[in-house]
Amino acid sequence: MKKLKKYWKLALGALLVSIASVVFLQDFKSNAGASLIDGSEYHHELTIILDAAHGSDVAGKASPDGTHREYAWSRFWINQLGKHLTDIGFTVVYTAPEETEPGLTERVRRMNAVSGPAIVFSLHNNAAGCGEWKSARGWSLWTTKGVTRSDQCAEIIYINMLAFIPELPFRYDISDGDHDYEANFTVLMSKHPSVLLEYMFQDNKLDLELIENPALSLTILYILDVSFLQIERYLTTKKAA
Ligand SMILES: [Zn+2]
Repeated sequence: MKKLKKYWKLALGALLVSIASVVFLQDFKSNAGASLIDGSEYHHELTIILDAAHGSDVAGKASPDGTHREYAWSRFWINQLGKHLTDIGFTVVYTAPEETEPGLTERVRRMNAVSGPAIVFSLHNNAAGCGEWKSARGWSLWTTKGVTRSDQCAEIIYINMLAFIPELPFRYDISDGDHDYEANFTVLMSKHPSVLLEYMFQDNKLDLELIENPALSLTILYILDVSFLQIERYLTTKKAA
């Protein structure tokens, strides 16, 4: 009797294992890419228009020693950012996928061909002089003149950058009530809200070291990923009538 009880336990154990493995295998047989939440529930409405700086044929736009080229740095990180944003489901459009400069008005034409809601994000390195090392340092955000939705988008990026990397020197202008600088750069003039990041000075030796630090640039991409989620919420939330 005792022996029989032992076998009974083994048989029950085997049955449980086989049920568990069927359930387990069934789980893997279902679409491996399926989300834990219903796929139709999670999608993005905002199109992100990424604007890489200049083109390889634009004169200047480099460190005084020529080791750093703004167009190449900007394209590399704009493409990395685009991959992040595509991976989390955003639609991404590039205004200058080519190496050479398509022209500022052509960039704006490409931006305006995108239907909203969309945001333009332009990534540059600043410069204080023309080919000599200078002392100006820091990153800054730029929007068009006047109070627009772009100001709040820039403010979201500012708050997140400051929260995660407060030691990074920041240049700001609070005379108009927010932290961004304002200038009607052509690439900020499309129909969409637009923010330009002047990321550090390529003609300052300390800033250039930071520009060329891949871990720091990658950290900033993650900050931008989160910022775009918040910007999407700001730009697409329908106000109660
Ligand atoms: Zn530039």
